[in-house]
Amino acid sequence: MANYLNFINGEWVSASSGEKHEHFNPAKPSESIGFTEVSAVEDVEKAIEAAKNAASGWKAMSSVNRGEILRKAADILEERADDIAKTATQEMGKRFVETKGEALRGAAILRYFAQEGHRKKGEVLPSAADGTTLLAVRVPVGVVAAITPWNFPIAIPIWKIAPALVFGNPVVWKPGQETGITAAKVAKVFEDAGLPAGVLNLVLGRGSVIGDVLTTHKDVSAVTFTGSNAVGQNIAKLATAGGKKFQLELGGKNPAVVLADANLDLAARLVVEGAMKQTGQRCTATSRAYVEASIYDEFVEKVIDNAKQITIGNGLQDGITMGPVASKKQFDTVTGYIQKGKDEGAELLYGGSTLDIDGGYYIEPTIFGNATHEMTIVKEEIFGPVVALMKVADYDEALEKANDTIYGLSAAVFTNSLEKAFHFIENSEVGMVQINGETGGAEPQAPFGGVKASGQGPKEQGQSAAEFFTTNKTVTINPFAK
Ligand code: NDP
Repeated sequence: MANYLNFINGEWVSASSGEKHEHFNPAKPSESIGFTEVSAVEDVEKAIEAAKNAASGWKAMSSVNRGEILRKAADILEERADDIAKTATQEMGKRFVETKGEALRGAAILRYFAQEGHRKKGEVLPSAADGTTLLAVRVPVGVVAAITPWNFPIAIPIWKIAPALVFGNPVVWKPGQETGITAAKVAKVFEDAGLPAGVLNLVLGRGSVIGDVLTTHKDVSAVTFTGSNAVGQNIAKLATAGGKKFQLELGGKNPAVVLADANLDLAARLVVEGAMKQTGQRCTATSRAYVEASIYDEFVEKVIDNAKQITIGNGLQDGITMGPVASKKQFDTVTGYIQKGKDEGAELLYGGSTLDIDGGYYIEPTIFGNATHEMTIVKEEIFGPVVALMKVADYDEALEKANDTIYGLSAAVFTNSLEKAFHFIENSEVGMVQINGETGGAEPQAPFGGVKASGQGPKEQGQSAAEFFTTNKTVTINPFAK
């Protein structure tokens, strides 16, 4: 069985701990996929040193040439999309069409940021002093630590690594431990695209052991993180104390508001898709829906009809529309929430059970109805195939309840009223709004991220990426000074 190594200073090396982590397929936990290294703090220190040593050479290369390497990486990723996607499916259960889509999206992100190497690096500003040139120039921020989760094991790392690289920063990347094999294959894409040694370093291992050194090391200038709120808050504390830049993309409890004038077929389909895609393991998943009372019963029927269409099984099989959850830990968490929903009196409208297929971590698409605002399933992020439907009197009540959460990632409204749609755009307390669309979705050219407890720091992707991965240096030139 293959063993996947750390990638440090351009070489594939074992971890100093001598320990290995075995990966099992969540669709069939008796099936071993391979091993990855379990790094110790000293491995991370070596990776940071390699990144620091590579920094000046990488910064000196023109951004156009750095972009060329990303473009090559995009081509290689596309060529290897089937293999990388299959590995990701075997590691975390998501369907092959989803992981393949993610790999292709990774290539699109690489191409977008490759082009960024051709765009402007700063501005010329007017100076109050005669004969003076005043510039604001974007310069690299320094060594970037990228800590990524298992739920998008290809696209999330790339949307951090690609902008970090094109803006001239070396990277130390720590992926979610459960998707370390996919990570090694993604790192290999960058190596084969011709990235100089030390510019991208991969350290495999446990976040609880090597996370702190990534966040506190004196030679790390910026930390970009996607994952749970608990870990994110710890990173914020440590990074602030160390004077480092940080960017956090955290959880969500994303609402859909369904109004009486909406296209109910569309709304029901997209609420179910929004909740169940990737088995609900998306930070932007729809997890609560506020439905006007006059259409509630009709909407519930349509939602159940859509949920019934979902076919569950191994994500490598054709025709499957939902895979297992990613791990035993996820299985226990999600089934725990389903039990809480029942215990707290929500009406179980559909699903709610687990399925025994090859011993995999399968949970039925689960729809709760007549949920109330105080219930745990309405308040906390579940990260599984569960959605709670709530009856509301009108749009005002829906908006108030949609906003009454610590989270603020994304929200959707289904309506044909221009007035209500615009009101929702103005007043929903989130980073991303969908009108007649599902709560998920991202494009490389658009900023991605949330407000409130869902995110901190500059948003990811699009033009916001430059805010995080560069520093604005003000330059004053006095050519005629005497
Ligand atoms: P974590 O936040 O624990 O993991 C995300 C990343 O952080 C992983 O690379 C993890 O490494 C790393 N990490 C863990 N501990 C530390 C630490 N002390 N310092 C620095 N990095 C650390 O999320 P989980 O994977 O445990 O998932 C738990 C829940 O988090 C999910 O159920 C979901 O609710 C939420 N989540 C949200 C995501 C999002 O997209 N916003 C993505 C993933 C999870 P390792 O894998 O080695 O533990």
